[in-house]
Amino acid sequence: MFDYWNPHIERMPLEDLKTLQEERLKSMVHYVYDHSPFYKERFKEAGVVPEDVKELADLTKLPFTYKVDLRNTYPTGMFSLPKNRVVRYHVSSGTTGKPTVVGYTKDDIEMWSDSLARALTSIGLGRGDVIQVGYGYGLFTGGLGLHYGAEKIGATVLPTGTGNTERQIMLMQDLGSTAIACTPSYFLHIAEVAERMGVSIRDDTSLRVGVFGAEPWSDETRRRIEEATGIKAYDIFGTSEMSGPLFTECQEQNGIHVWSDMFLIEVIDPKTGEELPDGETGELVITTLSKWAIPLIRYRIGDLTVINSEPCECGRTHPRLMRILGRTDDMIVIRGINVFPSQVESVLMTIPEVGDHYQIIVDRKGPLDVMKVMVEVTESGFSDKIADLMSLSKRISKELKGVLNVVADVELVEPGTIPRSEGKAVRVIDKRKV
Ligand SMILES: [Zn+2]
Repeated sequence: MFDYWNPHIERMPLEDLKTLQEERLKSMVHYVYDHSPFYKERFKEAGVVPEDVKELADLTKLPFTYKVDLRNTYPTGMFSLPKNRVVRYHVSSGTTGKPTVVGYTKDDIEMWSDSLARALTSIGLGRGDVIQVGYGYGLFTGGLGLHYGAEKIGATVLPTGTGNTERQIMLMQDLGSTAIACTPSYFLHIAEVAERMGVSIRDDTSLRVGVFGAEPWSDETRRRIEEATGIKAYDIFGTSEMSGPLFTECQEQNGIHVWSDMFLIEVIDPKTGEELPDGETGELVITTLSKWAIPLIRYRIGDLTVINSEPCECGRTHPRLMRILGRTDDMIVIRGINVFPSQVESVLMTIPEVGDHYQIIVDRKGPLDVMKVMVEVTESGFSDKIADLMSLSKRISKELKGVLNVVADVELVEPGTIPRSEGKAVRVIDKRKV
């Protein structure tokens, strides 16, 4: 049967959840207005006061906030509490310009761990499980976030962090890890190294669950991981601005439950800012309902997704984010056409001769954008007959064109050629930016 961490909240009827959200939204709007000079100013510019928010539908009266706001107010200009109330900082790497700093009060850490406690319970983890945390520990939220959530449910944490892969595999065997949390690309690497060491994840370890995220991945990769290693692979979602990793799929593996009592989500048209109905793809916007050091109002996350508010088989009433297509930041534009690395991945992973690792290289030839996809071929798919390889590369190129509407040059390489990563994989090299 299904297990819940907090059955009362997780199965709360939608109407009651809405009432709870409404109350929390109203007090959150007052809170940021009274405590954060940033929000007071932003509300003034938009001509709204907290009293204008009387019901959930009034949310759209409030102005959006953006990642650039966090950068412009670096380090702590968006905080709503004095620094002496902050018990921890996390800092995102930020590919351009200043990083973003997020602070946490004791209650914020509690909310974060609680969110993950619900999520980890929903994928069947609990006391008796050994959860190997292979995300980076430190300024990055992955390691410590999972760590606190896993301890909260009474599981045993094995805080390996990233790297030292052979030792990870040894500890996985010797201490009986039943679950692992890391990036999907790092897990593929672990599986590859294990095979080289003569260790079968399926037969020689107790691993049964993977919690994978921090980089976009596809259902096709999930299928490959599950078939190759015998574990169940779950998607996890969260961003450093929201807290860090917060939500996972439940055992249905059909969408990521977002806890409505903690976060209010909207999906909008990224161009017009108009709210979109359930089932339409748009940009994810979140409002925090229970976060105090740095609450966010209508923060534009930049991920493209679809909301599903239908009841889930698992009995949870909280809405689901359907598999996330990617961040608008990750999108590459090739000759005016939008391409997401996750789309390339879903095409590649359906072709049996293609290995688990790939890289997209974008460049400019004269005035034209060109895209090359470097594809590793599996040991068994590798042929010394040039004609076979040529027909394989043609086939891949044709399938990519069918989905992306963009012509891609396919370069086949030997297994092990593309650099492996211990954290987020480098899937795209855009030479146009250099
Ligand atoms: Zn569910």
